[in-house]
Amino acid sequence: MDERALVVVGGGPAGMAAALSAWERGVRDILLLERDRHLGGILNQCVHPGFGLVQFKETLTGPEYADRFVQRVRATREIEVNTGSFVAELKPGKVLTYFKPGEVRSVRAGALVMATGCRERTREMIQIPGSRPAGVFSAGFAQRMMNIEGLLPGRRVVVIGSGDIGLIMARRLSLEGATVSAVVEIQRQPTGLKRNIVQCLDDFGISLYLGHRVAWIHGKDRVEAVDVAAVDELGCEVAGGRFSIPCDTVLVSVGLIPENELIEMAGAEINRRTNTPVSSDLNYTSIPGLFVCGNAYRVYDIVDSVTRDSVIAGRQAAEYLAAG
Ligand SMILES: Cc1cc2nc3c(=O)[nH]c(=O)nc-3n(C[C@H](O)[C@H](O)[C@H](O)COP(=O)(O)OP(=O)(O)OC[C@H]3O[C@@H](n4cnc5c(N)ncnc54)[C@H](O)[C@@H]3O)c2cc1C
Repeated sequence: MDERALVVVGGGPAGMAAALSAWERGVRDILLLERDRHLGGILNQCVHPGFGLVQFKETLTGPEYADRFVQRVRATREIEVNTGSFVAELKPGKVLTYFKPGEVRSVRAGALVMATGCRERTREMIQIPGSRPAGVFSAGFAQRMMNIEGLLPGRRVVVIGSGDIGLIMARRLSLEGATVSAVVEIQRQPTGLKRNIVQCLDDFGISLYLGHRVAWIHGKDRVEAVDVAAVDELGCEVAGGRFSIPCDTVLVSVGLIPENELIEMAGAEINRRTNTPVSSDLNYTSIPGLFVCGNAYRVYDIVDSVTRDSVIAGRQAAEYLAAG
């Protein structure tokens, strides 16, 4: 079996920052595993500006921000990057099994940093009733369709959730010629940043319904309309507060869930409510030498904070290895 001083799983901003930070502290023999064909993580599909204000004092797009780290990883000439590598198993003793096309490989890590990011919450998780037509997408999936595959998910759209991803997608769809009829948010306050409310909704004349929820999705083959209902503080429908919005697409943007199934498989303690590691300190798990950073550790608002805390994860891994 292959043996490495440090294995980092996930080649997004968190994994790259952790690997670089460990390398800068003298760790050699680092393997960085990424399931996608490219490094960069979710940033590769975030073509809007607004990244890097803290780290670089300038505003970059997601791919530009990622590229700064990709170049630094390459420049080390020593961090081995293995893309197209999907880690499927983590056993106690920090033994990983990963798949590459046509191959299964195993590696034992002296120290391990997991930087596997988040997945999106789905329609099923918030239990929106109605039929099951085509045209209901998670916001991140729609973003990938548009920014990577070059496909428009629909022409008349309702967005569920006022977090930053939903707001940014409302603007993106408008810029590409779709009509965004509404953003519907069950809370009484928007959950995204103020600047995104202004730049993504107000500037495009998109209505935001606070204290409302999508109560029904209509459509046989394709989405045809949604019913929107006003709700009280307890989330119960207010009588007479229901109306319908015709649309062909619903984007669901109702939060992210940290990806931590692998560390759980290895026996790390997990907080069931947040799906994050039970942790005595930043990036720590209940297993010595196994660290988690970036959006897998907690859902961060901005990537600059992911980078800051993931640099610490690299240092922690280096210190763990140095302590023998
Ligand atoms: C739509 C959207 C808009 C955003 N806008 C902004 C913004 O304007 N400004 C800002 O600062 N931040 C923004 N962010 C947040 C920022 O993108 C994230 O904070 C950051 O990308 C998180 O980095 P990460 O490395 O933890 O996770 P990710 O970028 O998700 O990277 C995780 C990586 O792990 C890999 N991986 C996962 N599981 C495995 C496995 N089993 N085997 C191998 N590889 C695996 C994934 O393929 C991925 O490459 C936005 C995010 C989204 C989704």
